[in-house]
Amino acid sequence: MRVIDKIRSEKISFSFEVFPPKTADKFESIKNAAEKVGALSPDFMSVTYGAGGGTSEYTVAIAKDLQNKFNIPVLAHLSCISSTKEGVRKQLEAIKAAGIENILALRGDLPQGSEALENWDYRYASELVKEIKDFDPGFCIGGACYPECHPESSSQKKDIENMKKKVDAGCEFLTTQMFFDNNIYWNFLYKVRDAGINVPIVAGIMPVTNVKQVERTLKLSGAQVPLKFKYMVDKFGGNPEAMKQAGIIYATEQIVDLIANGVTAIHLYTMNKADIAEEIKNNLKGILDI
Ligand code: FAD
Repeated sequence: MRVIDKIRSEKISFSFEVFPPKTADKFESIKNAAEKVGALSPDFMSVTYGAGGGTSEYTVAIAKDLQNKFNIPVLAHLSCISSTKEGVRKQLEAIKAAGIENILALRGDLPQGSEALENWDYRYASELVKEIKDFDPGFCIGGACYPECHPESSSQKKDIENMKKKVDAGCEFLTTQMFFDNNIYWNFLYKVRDAGINVPIVAGIMPVTNVKQVERTLKLSGAQVPLKFKYMVDKFGGNPEAMKQAGIIYATEQIVDLIANGVTAIHLYTMNKADIAEEIKNNLKGILDI
C-alpha cells in the first residue's frame, strides 16, 4: 500500500499524523489514542520518529498496528542525523519486516551544541533517501519541506535548491511544515515549481486548539501567524472550550481554502487527538468527496 498512490489519486487525500510513546509504560495508552485517530478512516497515517532514535521501535510498532488494524497505508518517519549506517540499516530491516512500504526520510534536528556535521554518517536527508533506495528501491519515500524556509538555511532559494536534491535522490512527495497563512503556501509552491520540483507538495495543517500549544508550536515550527490568528488567541485563549472550537474552525477554513484553490493532499497534525481530527473531518464532509 503505497502512500503516493493515495496522494496522486483523483480523490482528495486527507491523512493524519500521530506520534509514538517515548517510554514503554505509555505504549498502550498512546496505541489506543493512535487507534482512535486511525478509526476515522484517513487515506493514510504517518507516525513520527523521536529525535536521536529515542522512539524508533515504537514508531514501527504503532505504524504496523495501524496498518494491520485499519488496512490503510502507513508512513513511518525515519531520521538519520545521529545514526550510523548500521543503525539506519537495522531500522530499514525492521520497517520492511513490519510490512511497511512508506518512509518519510528526515535528517532530524541537530543535538544541541553540535556542529560537527561532517563527522557523521549522514548530514542531510537526501543521503538517507539514497540509503533507502539502495536498501530497497521499492520503498515509497517522502521528505519534509518548509514554506517559511528551514531555520538553518541562509536563503529560501538555497533551501529550495537543497529540497530538489532530496527529490532528485528519490523523494516522491514532500510534506510541508505547518503554516497558518495559506498565502505562504501559495508563494512557496510557485517558487518550488519554478525550481523544477514537480512532486506533490502535501499541505501540513496543525489545528491549534489550546493556548499552551500556541507558544510551543510557534517556537518549534518558526511559523508566522497572521493577525486573525493572533486575535483568535487573544479573544478565546482564556476559555478552553472556545479556543478548541476556534482552532478547529481556523484549521477547517485553511483546508477549505487550500482545496478550493486546487490542493489535493492535506496532512493533519493530530497530536493524537481523535476528537479534534474527527470534528475537522466532519466539517469537511462533502468537500473531501468532490
Ligand atoms: P534536510 O532536508 O537535510 O535539510 C536540513 C537543512 O540542511 C536545510 O537547511 C537544508 O536547506 C540544508 N541542506 C539540505 N541538503 C543540503 C546540502 N546537500 N548541502 C547543504 N545544505 C543542505 N523530526 C524528527 O525528529 N522526527 C520526525 O518524525 C519529524 N517529522 C517531520 C515531519 C515533517 C512534515 C516536517 C516538515 C519536519 C519533521 N521533523 C521531524 C523535523 C525535521 O527533522 C527538522 O526540521 C530537521 O531540522 C530537518 O530535517 P530535513 O529532513 O528537512 O533535513
